[in-house]
Amino acid sequence: MLILLSDAFDPGLPDKLEKFGEVTDDKERLAEAEVVLIRSKTKVTKEYIDSAPNLKLVIRGGVGLDNVDLVYAKEKGITVHNTAAASSVAVAELAFALMIATTNHVVVADKSMREGQWIKKQLKRTELYKKTLGIIGMGRIATELAIRAKAFGMEIVAYDPFVEQSDYAEMKPTLQELLEVSDYVSMHLPLTDDTKGLINAETLKYFKDGAYLINTGRGKTIVEEDVVEALKSGKLKGFGNDVWYSDPPEKNPFIDAPNVTMIPHLGASTKENLLRIGDIIEELIGEYIK
Ligand code: NAD
Repeated sequence: MLILLSDAFDPGLPDKLEKFGEVTDDKERLAEAEVVLIRSKTKVTKEYIDSAPNLKLVIRGGVGLDNVDLVYAKEKGITVHNTAAASSVAVAELAFALMIATTNHVVVADKSMREGQWIKKQLKRTELYKKTLGIIGMGRIATELAIRAKAFGMEIVAYDPFVEQSDYAEMKPTLQELLEVSDYVSMHLPLTDDTKGLINAETLKYFKDGAYLINTGRGKTIVEEDVVEALKSGKLKGFGNDVWYSDPPEKNPFIDAPNVTMIPHLGASTKENLLRIGDIIEELIGEYIK
């Protein structure tokens, strides 16, 4: 059995998997591979599947499966798994880091010091304490974020049409009701037909003036140009972003927008998470062989 590592994983993973068969990262050998391991970079499209006649199992190290043609994979009898639970803490910590960085001007302050400036008077920080955090998509990552926000003394509300109740957030029945009360809005959505462009010129009108937006879910759940406008007009006071229309972005409209903290899609990239992902992959391949 040939296992192809098509994206970057923990360097110790090949050793863990050798007991199951030959392990390679040579993408030229896709046609021979029975198992393919991917993260977000490899796109398992119809064409990809057609060039992999021996493929039986695809494992996506991470959460989203929007880079896999699930319908065609099923048609071809290929099993697809992800490692859904592994990344929750890693992404929640990054969402929290972005919330703290934007609200404390960490990047702007650091840059100004490097440029020899002293802009103490211009930079006023804002506390998270007693502010309302509005979460869109109250799943695994959002739950970890809510636990951390509670420890900071924040009020937490959430909007998720598929979740009736949460131990950590007051559920709001509509997106509008969530946006109207939130000082910080953190997005934790998969990319679907319903979530694509959810934050746009219309929904931005419901935000509180001077709210902060954080996105560690999927880039296309916001309309980037509309968020840029909201930053320029002051409707949004800051934006922390980890996710893009493509990795890397073909064009980045946030370069000239005020108060934006940008991260090159590092949500899942902690060393601990890569180890957890490796353990789950080992388990899944073991089960497949059984
Ligand atoms: P999850 O499935 O546990 O949570 C997603 C939640 O979104 C679910 O509760 C679902 O009901 C809700 N949802 C779906 N459609 C909705 C809609 N139209 N409106 C409101 N809520 C809706 O997934 P998770 O593990 O918490 O991950 C969330 C997302 O984070 C993933 O889908 C992925 O896109 C993203 N993610 C990003 C990174 C990163 O590196 N930044 C890493 C992992 C995951």
